[in-house]
Amino acid sequence: MKQQLFQKTTVRLTAVYLAVLMLLAVVFSIALFRVSVSELDRNYVHAVDFANNFVGFRLDPQLADNYLSDRTLERDEGHQHLIKQLVVLGAVILVSGGFFSYALARRTLEPIEEAHMSLERFTADASHELRTPLTTMRTEIEVALLNPELNVKESRKLLESNLEEVDRLSILSERLLTLARLDEYELPHENVAVSELVSKSIEATHARAAAKDVTLKKKLSGAASLATVQGDEASLSEALIILLDNAVKYSEKGATVIVEASTRYKSVLIAVKDKGIGIETADIPKIFERFYRADQSRTRANEHGYGLGLALAHKIIDLHTGKIEVTSTPGKGSTFTVLLPLA
Ligand code: ADP
Repeated sequence: MKQQLFQKTTVRLTAVYLAVLMLLAVVFSIALFRVSVSELDRNYVHAVDFANNFVGFRLDPQLADNYLSDRTLERDEGHQHLIKQLVVLGAVILVSGGFFSYALARRTLEPIEEAHMSLERFTADASHELRTPLTTMRTEIEVALLNPELNVKESRKLLESNLEEVDRLSILSERLLTLARLDEYELPHENVAVSELVSKSIEATHARAAAKDVTLKKKLSGAASLATVQGDEASLSEALIILLDNAVKYSEKGATVIVEASTRYKSVLIAVKDKGIGIETADIPKIFERFYRADQSRTRANEHGYGLGLALAHKIIDLHTGKIEVTSTPGKGSTFTVLLPLA
């Protein structure tokens, strides 16, 4: 259905491009025809003048007639030849223009088609992710309601479990909304102090780290502690919190996560280092895709998530003309590095 719509639009756009091209070709041909005809006619007028004034022709009118009819023939043939050439040129433009217009229409529509397909994939993934916790909650509630002797302890357990799912749903919807917001609005550009940015992000992750007995350490070089970047503080902080949250999530209990900041040329480098489970080399190019979660049994079994965090962090850093990179060794840990241009 969608494929058909894109095919139809391609054909329509090809027709529009071709019509514009042919219109230009016709206007150009008419102009060329007029100029050439006036040139031919001018030569003919010269010939007629010559025939009228040449003394030899006055003495021999037959010769003058022959001369003039030759020139008339020449002029008429010139006109016909010109028309033929313009018709051939028009046909060549029509055929090659048809191919060219089709190629151009495909090129114009390709990014729109790709964006459309990615949006469809995104919507399908998002609805799947939204359905899963809802189904879990529904099943738990239904089972509880079927139990006529449901006691307070069991009810509490059910409510706690439901609350967990609700929390997960709110994180998911918040991330989905932020992703959509980032697509639509331009981010504010303010001066953001790197030191404050790192401190605030650590503070925001502190409770989750403490729950897992993970220590968060901040190490700033002298230059980095004075550095500022241009951008939206809330979004940049969100990106760092995602990296810190992941570092905590994928580390063992009691581990240490270090946030290091330094400057290099005209950039500031913020690295989040953990000694957690690490990422397989094959997964590294995919972890920034929306909804991608590395399929390590430990990742999925122990830690909840939707695979949206890194996609969001990547987008935020991209919007700040920065870069986000990762180096990781499975079983040894990962380092996510954010590079941002200095203000
Ligand atoms: P999730 O909600 O699953 O954490 P993310 O987009 O934040 O989603 O991360 C995508 C995947 O990248 C995760 O599922 C995990 O497999 C991997 N990953 C991200 N950060 C780390 C890390 N610090 N250590 C190990 N694996 C990580």
